[in-house]
Amino acid sequence: MTEKLVIIGSGPAGLTAAIYAARANLSPLVLEGLQPGGQLTITSDIENFPGFVDPIGGPELMAAMRSQAERVGARFRSDTVQSVDFTGSAHQLRFEHETLTAQTVIIATGATARWLGIPSETALRGRGVSACATCDGFFFRGKEVAVVGGGDTALEEALYLTNFCSKVTLIHRRDEFRGSKVLQQRVLSHPKIAVVWNAVVAEIRDVVKGEVTAVMLRDVQTEKIQELPCAGLFVAIGHVPSTSAFQGQLTLDEQGYIVTEKGSTKTSVPGVFAAGDCQDHTYRQAITAAGTGCMAAIDAERYLQAQV
Ligand code: NAP
Repeated sequence: MTEKLVIIGSGPAGLTAAIYAARANLSPLVLEGLQPGGQLTITSDIENFPGFVDPIGGPELMAAMRSQAERVGARFRSDTVQSVDFTGSAHQLRFEHETLTAQTVIIATGATARWLGIPSETALRGRGVSACATCDGFFFRGKEVAVVGGGDTALEEALYLTNFCSKVTLIHRRDEFRGSKVLQQRVLSHPKIAVVWNAVVAEIRDVVKGEVTAVMLRDVQTEKIQELPCAGLFVAIGHVPSTSAFQGQLTLDEQGYIVTEKGSTKTSVPGVFAAGDCQDHTYRQAITAAGTGCMAAIDAERYLQAQV
């Protein structure tokens, strides 16, 4: 049996696509993957998703979206696509023991933050260590925080955090930023931002207390360790789109994001659409992911209509 529409991923993009597609009678099958609900399930309180007067927990929001999608007719399957074959007229999705065929596919596999990979970071994630200033910055009102990274994301996050925090220290492993000149100028002239050059985070304290109290910085030139007291650490060293299963099948950009046609969710393969963070390295918000999920469902419906 060939499915009309398979949606890969169950974050805001995938679930919004599922709601729209189900209401268009496409009976979509949603593949939930390894992290059902996506990145929002690791966010504590969400205050910027419209419609909620009080903060809503990420897992609660995603559970509500899933129930809504299910109520209007979406079907769910917990499985991870290992590889795809988009060369034929029916698109093939391969799992460990099975292959599924679909007339249309919406890819909403998201992206994951790149982490430093040190044990104290894992232990304190969600307890003062974050990869999203827009999501969590507000919780550090009046406090001193640190940001790691030297690209546009780190520079933007540092500037954004100055809206709430008393001081922001930017930690970069080299002596010049990678990010754009205009952001560099803003960062370097900002009275609340200090920069520590040529340094990497060796350890985050205090794992025993279960909260961030300081970061231990290692100077990459002198190997000297210095302590920087802070209440939060924002890791902004890039994101990795979850698109490895589509390599060689779809056009990806040099960073691995799926390339979509301007103003639509069409990929390089007819009948295959992409929504959310797997195709967006600029906005990366739940609401923008949901918006492109809606667009993808409408694009898939129109594609199917044109096939009749
Ligand atoms: P990025 O440009 O890849 O920068 C990542 C930064 O993290 C680099 O400075 C890198 O250092 C550092 N880094 C990487 N791994 C590290 C590690 N293990 N330890 C310490 N530092 C590490 O990523 P991004 O800033 O997320 O930007 C991604 C893309 O989105 C870029 O093309 C960017 O221009 C774009 N973007 C644009 C905007 C905008 O235009 N407003 C906003 C955000 C992002 P090195 O420099 O030494 O490699």
